[in-house]
Amino acid sequence: MSQIYNFSAGPAALPKEVLQQARDEMLDWHGSGMSVMEMSHRGKEFMSIIEDLENDLRNLAGIPSNYKVLFLQGGASSQFAMIPMNLLRDKKKADYINTGQWSEKAIKEAKKYCTVNIAASSEDAKFTYAPTQDQWRLNDDAAYIHYTSNETIGGVEFNWAPDFPMDSEVPLVADMSSNILSRSLDVSRYGLIYAGAQKNLGPAGLVLVIIREDLAGFPLPGTPTLFDYMVHIKNDSMYNTPPTYAIYITGLVLKWLKQQGGLTVVEQNNIHKAALLYDLLDTSDFYHCPVAKQDRSRMNIPFTLKDPALDEAFLKQAEANGLVQLKGHRSVGGMRASLYNAMPVEGVVQLITFMKEFSSKHA
Ligand code: PMP
Repeated sequence: MSQIYNFSAGPAALPKEVLQQARDEMLDWHGSGMSVMEMSHRGKEFMSIIEDLENDLRNLAGIPSNYKVLFLQGGASSQFAMIPMNLLRDKKKADYINTGQWSEKAIKEAKKYCTVNIAASSEDAKFTYAPTQDQWRLNDDAAYIHYTSNETIGGVEFNWAPDFPMDSEVPLVADMSSNILSRSLDVSRYGLIYAGAQKNLGPAGLVLVIIREDLAGFPLPGTPTLFDYMVHIKNDSMYNTPPTYAIYITGLVLKWLKQQGGLTVVEQNNIHKAALLYDLLDTSDFYHCPVAKQDRSRMNIPFTLKDPALDEAFLKQAEANGLVQLKGHRSVGGMRASLYNAMPVEGVVQLITFMKEFSSKHA
């Protein structure tokens, strides 16, 4: 099979070594005679898998002991509702930073439960930048502050972590679906972090929630049992059947990340890979990236061609060169290259070589 590089925004490419290990263990996990898919989630084999995953995650991300780690279902989208349902408590307002389509979805859902204050927005420039913290107009009586640390569609990333006093009354909530574990992280700045797994962590079906312990336990009246963080905390994510196979693969991905050297090394690799592609975009008259330089995502790089009439030919020829899933999101058009942790630098080099050839042929 010839080498294919998959630039999908999610579900996205997984490390080859992880897939190979999953293949080798598919029919018989560690001599158990069972596939992980067939195991009881309460059996000792699966319990060891989920415990290992939690330990590895705690070590990799340096998660303090007063934070709980939850492995849930429902995708990151379920958190758009679960967050207001659990964090509003007796307050009626929440602050949201609007940097694009994923922020907007979170905002739309939160409006069902509270008054949303848009504390900052980059809508004035078609969501091509991330408002700096001094532009955030926060409400004193907000229950929490929500932002999307990486906008997967627009390719806008907060390349800095918001800085609030550690004892700030208002917890910071981050949707890290598309950049979690791609860079070093200070969990203690956040009240709650969530991420769908299908980009940087593992397969679809799993959503990771890291929540400061004291924030759980105060759901709005009428909150469904499955939407109550405390229920999942008390049951170690086993109130109902968790997404067992996705948890297993995510465990393998985390071991792979550890082998790479942990988040500091992974972050350096991601900086390097993104710089290679942005350098080409910035030195070319043929390609263009609309995002403000300081807020460009390392994970999702949107770009357009000088003449959109060439888009189809670009995609077709890229595919013939083993470079797949480069089509931009249907709402914005153009191209998007997602360079998550699992994308090897060789994939980026091959993409750049192809892009240079294509532009010189069509200049
Ligand atoms: N937030 C962000 C930043 C995303 O990129 C996505 C998925 N692309 C979501 C939320 C929604 O995730 P899910 O499909 O798992 O609900």
